[in-house]
Amino acid sequence: MTQILIAEDEPRIASFVAKGLQANGFTPTIAVDAEETLSLAVGNGFDLLILDLGLPGKDGLEVLTEIRGQGENLPVIILTARDDIDDKLAGLEGGADDYMTKPFRFEELLARIKLRLRNPNIAATQEESTLKAGNVVLDLRTRKVKVGDAFGNPSGVRIIDLPAREFTLAETFFRHPGQVLSREQLLDRVWGYDYDPGSNIVDVYVGYLRKKLGNKLIETVRGMGYRLRR
Ligand code: CA
Repeated sequence: MTQILIAEDEPRIASFVAKGLQANGFTPTIAVDAEETLSLAVGNGFDLLILDLGLPGKDGLEVLTEIRGQGENLPVIILTARDDIDDKLAGLEGGADDYMTKPFRFEELLARIKLRLRNPNIAATQEESTLKAGNVVLDLRTRKVKVGDAFGNPSGVRIIDLPAREFTLAETFFRHPGQVLSREQLLDRVWGYDYDPGSNIVDVYVGYLRKKLGNKLIETVRGMGYRLRR
């Protein structure tokens, strides 16, 4: 069980990150201010801390200095709205392992978390290099998609370059085969929290994937969302 502490005072962002982590098999805990973050982060066996710099009570960088000062060496990823380079340098000097600027996409944060996790075995088992469904294979390293011939004819195989957003959408489906994903979940995972929930962009992009990867791969579940056929 990989436990991740999320220090974030904006409920919308905290729950967005927590939900995403849960869906990926992690156990998230939310701390809403500097004091709570300090008391939880030190000596409680968390595997990683996601730290907002703008926390109530104390500046996140001060919190980080105190955490390190108490000998706690868990990996820390700073998450902040500030995109000032000075903050970045200060954060990394203060003992952070990585840095992300808001707004961000969950998949990006997830990739960084996996990279920073203390136990390399955890990252290794959760990071496959390809995902497969039917005759379609996603290569997560090259970000290319291989679409095979339905009759096994090697000359019918196509390699496709998908634009980043389409690839991330495809990856989200391939990581949850057979599971119904609602438009809201897909917006959250692929477009981030800063997106108009009334938008039909998910439908448009599912249309693109069907056109490129095959019509039958992703089915519509009426009134609920979409599902990747197993
Ligand atoms: Ca904040």
